[in-house]
Amino acid sequence: MRIVLVGPPGAGKGTQAAVLAERLAIPHISTGDLFRANIAQGTELGKQVKSILSEGGLVPDEVTVAMAADRMARPDAQGGFLLDGFPRNISQAKALDGLLAESGHTLDAVLDLEIPEEEVVRRIAGRRTCRKDSSHTFHVQSRPPLRPGVCDVCGGELYQRDDDREETVRKRLSIYHEETEPIIGYYQEQGLVSTISAVASVEEVTRRAIEALPQRSRER
Ligand code: AMP
Repeated sequence: MRIVLVGPPGAGKGTQAAVLAERLAIPHISTGDLFRANIAQGTELGKQVKSILSEGGLVPDEVTVAMAADRMARPDAQGGFLLDGFPRNISQAKALDGLLAESGHTLDAVLDLEIPEEEVVRRIAGRRTCRKDSSHTFHVQSRPPLRPGVCDVCGGELYQRDDDREETVRKRLSIYHEETEPIIGYYQEQGLVSTISAVASVEEVTRRAIEALPQRSRER
């Protein structure tokens, strides 16, 4: 099953992607997580993209597509994957189509998580992320960890991502509207899009997402 998850920053893509990928037994591929891992490890790629991420801009397509292609070529992704944060513009969507065509595959579904802008800013400004596993996220008000600053799941340190500051969030939102939203129309033309309201509990949004998937993917 090959699924793309789209939605503005703060819609809960990372959280939903982790849950859905586990349910569907496919790898969760997040380009944002891959960039952050490279930055944490101090790789050449990490050094190249560090300031772009902290300012909330988009990493150039060639770099992003090459990294995503590399990840999708790994053995665990041969039976399918769930893409989170990629593609992020029309040119990446076309590059993904090309990569899939080379291996004789197509996408099965595009899940579009919808959320009002004020809710995005509220969610992101209070978001705290685990340094050990960025799918472990908390919120200072609506989902506080048991011990402040410590991840409930693995004990990792919780921090506020540089790009989660309010002015950066506003920049990321405007990039989302200009660059990423058009891919929804692109995929609608292919009949792949299901739009889901992301203003609900994590469990409820997961339920809506599973229900929106084509029947055969739910049976996996
Ligand atoms: P995310 O974790 O998906 O919010 O991504 C964090 C940051 O990584 C973004 O603000 C971009 O700077 C960069 N990034 C992630 N995915 C992409 C992509 N597909 N294209 C360009 N930049 C990306």
